[in-house]
Amino acid sequence: MQGASISPTRRSRQSRVAVLGGGIMGCCTALMLAREGVSVTLFEREKILLGGASRWNEGKIHLGFLYCADPALHTAKELLQGGLQFKPIMEDLLGTALQHVTLEPDLYLVHRKSVASVDDTRRYFSALQEMVAAHPMASLYPGGEAPSGVAELPRHELDALVDTSRFQAGFATPERSVCTQHIADQLVDAVRAEPLIECCFETEVLGAGDARGSEREALFIVTENGEAGPFTHVVNALWAGRPTVDSTLQLDTLHNPSIRYRLSLFVETSRPLNTPSAVICTGPFGDVKNYDGRRFYLSWYPAGLVYSSNNMTVPVLPPQSTTQQQTIIADTFSNLIAHLPKVEEIRDNAARITLAGGWVFANGRGSLSNPRASVHRRDHVGIHQSGQWFSVDTGKYSIAPWLAKELTQRIIQG
Ligand SMILES: Cc1cc2nc3c(=O)[nH]c(=O)nc-3n(C[C@H](O)[C@H](O)[C@H](O)COP(=O)(O)OP(=O)(O)OC[C@H]3O[C@@H](n4cnc5c(N)ncnc54)[C@H](O)[C@@H]3O)c2cc1C
Repeated sequence: MQGASISPTRRSRQSRVAVLGGGIMGCCTALMLAREGVSVTLFEREKILLGGASRWNEGKIHLGFLYCADPALHTAKELLQGGLQFKPIMEDLLGTALQHVTLEPDLYLVHRKSVASVDDTRRYFSALQEMVAAHPMASLYPGGEAPSGVAELPRHELDALVDTSRFQAGFATPERSVCTQHIADQLVDAVRAEPLIECCFETEVLGAGDARGSEREALFIVTENGEAGPFTHVVNALWAGRPTVDSTLQLDTLHNPSIRYRLSLFVETSRPLNTPSAVICTGPFGDVKNYDGRRFYLSWYPAGLVYSSNNMTVPVLPPQSTTQQQTIIADTFSNLIAHLPKVEEIRDNAARITLAGGWVFANGRGSLSNPRASVHRRDHVGIHQSGQWFSVDTGKYSIAPWLAKELTQRIIQG
């Protein structure tokens, strides 16, 4: 979709939209609206766009395999449609083919302490794979043709790969990830090049207000620098910061919410490696992603979890000291290597290690090791509309472009 080829409609010329938050959700929405001829003001508290979770995550394009502790497939059904449309929507938006997709799909390694038994995992994966294969958009998934099936690893392959005292089974799945830093750079360039988007950086949004009585409802944004507006529509895409701003309009879209701050390792190696992309699941939870042989994502969940709370007020976290950073890096490597020895080659060939991450908001709570914890379900996500105010819980990076498209259509069509 190119901006120049679209003539703005009368409605879109009249619209003036405030987009709150410059993560993937806010940037995709702002770009799509601007390309429909809508003037957008994008508010971001940092000096840059896409500086948090949307740059520093593993980029799994979820088909739903991670959520086998939700056997009724509620979460998978919610994530699948958006995941399958991630590639075509982003390619359209960025005007280029999606690059740096993981070399091989994910192996799921079922830990002995997993909250789902091997039989339950097998059943869940089989049901999910049927759902994926039957989906009319299955062929749009990154990595080429339609996602191939799920295969349980034969014992000798599992033995060669992992410390089998820690694992019960392994499955080859079709799931892939994308390098989110690469996409973040492309999105920043696209927003910069768009004349209809005005970015207000270093602007903390505190709340909102509306003024009725005129022909159209007018919305105002309250920032630390004063009031901004009027706007015809507002998209609240602040993710972890979203509930506080919604609450100033007495909007409540929460179901047992929690926030966490997670750090992971982004590693570049001095030579190409064929380390497999794998997920250690679930209870014990870790991830390895091999994007292009030299760029890797590594996470050991307990090592990188630096803040967790059910209180929705997002605190300003003090920066990690050098010692704290070194501890997280060392713990991440040692735990991953203990489970998946091939990770040692990433550590031994690391030329650059960046420790980074972001806030995670979830309509779910509790520990990953508790099978009944609501954090295992992620289906209370998406767009909440109240008049001209749209509050969006992105839920996952992989469904953000699809949600942005839906938001744009709702605003354009009125
Ligand atoms: C370690 C990690 C791994 C993850 N792995 C995956 C994965 O593999 N696949 C997947 O699909 N998802 C994953 N996620 C989740 C994914 O990163 C998020 O769903 C997605 O990035 C959220 O995008 P967003 O634009 O809604 O929020 P954000 O990227 O958080 O953007 C919100 C923006 O709003 C700004 N902001 C917040 N409050 C205010 C305020 N009051 N005023 C002004 N600005 C404000 C923030 O600075 C930020 O720039 C992961 C997250 C983490 C942290």
